[in-house]
Amino acid sequence: MKIGRAAGVTDTGRRRLRNEDAFICEPPLFAVADGMGGARAGEVAAGLAAAALEEAGSETRGAEGVAALIVEANKRIWERSLNDPRTTGMGTTVTAALVDAASGAVAIGHVGDSRAYLLRDETLEQLTTDHSLVAELVESGVLTPEEAERHPQRSAITRALGTEPTVEVDAFTMQAEPGDLFLVCSDGLSAMLSDEAVSSAIETADRDPERAADALVAAANARGGEDNITVVLFEIVDDQAPAPSPVPEPVPEATVLPEAGELTEEDVQVEASESVAAEPEPSRHGAGAGGRVAALALIVSVLVVGLLVLYLAVR
Ligand code: MG
Repeated sequence: MKIGRAAGVTDTGRRRLRNEDAFICEPPLFAVADGMGGARAGEVAAGLAAAALEEAGSETRGAEGVAALIVEANKRIWERSLNDPRTTGMGTTVTAALVDAASGAVAIGHVGDSRAYLLRDETLEQLTTDHSLVAELVESGVLTPEEAERHPQRSAITRALGTEPTVEVDAFTMQAEPGDLFLVCSDGLSAMLSDEAVSSAIETADRDPERAADALVAAANARGGEDNITVVLFEIVDDQAPAPSPVPEPVPEATVLPEAGELTEEDVQVEASESVAAEPEPSRHGAGAGGRVAALALIVSVLVVGLLVLYLAVR
């Protein structure tokens, strides 16, 4: 067995002004991180998680190895948040899959509500269990899965990376088969699309990871795109399969992110205005141009006030 084609895509979605997701699509390591926190802290947390995984990923083996990687990422985010008050409380989800191509063993580790799925034959199976409030309520029989999907607290997670000095990681290994297609995604995909919609988008794209990833992002946006959407897909093929077309050099999210220490006052101000503009979500349908103009006006006015205060202070 070997890893076939692979693709990763991330998209801001239609409602958020920033993308706080990050991903890794560097065979044999695949991962998604969904950051949270004020200012640009969510971006920093997700970027740190991706960078930590990427750095050590090549020497890592098995479920224990993946869990150790995630624990190390947790430590780095936690330490950064202690050293930079602007990132206090930042955190991120992470779901990582590491493939041992020779044996076909896929090690999966996760914290939070980013998910791993397996499409085998015609069946899409969710491999991870969300660390979320609603997942716990479903588990204990308080909510049905359908109620959980509509629950106002459905995006509240009960475990995150970086918010505590230590973290408990769920990690396991599963045996892949030729023809398997794995999907790792943020909740911006899974909250927007049913399992049926996910598998039908992948089938319609002829299981081509790149086309399927684009189709999934488009479908999530068509359903409202209420959150950042990140999709990583990879296939397992047998050794005899023709070589895949070269995977385009991924642009690791981590490398384009500023270091937390480099946050400028403007970032903080812009984010402050964003939270005002983006939080009271207008209508389900018409958030388009009007909302963006209002957000822009707010950003500009916050900057003007900031400059005025600065000017007065200097004088
Ligand atoms: Mg999200």
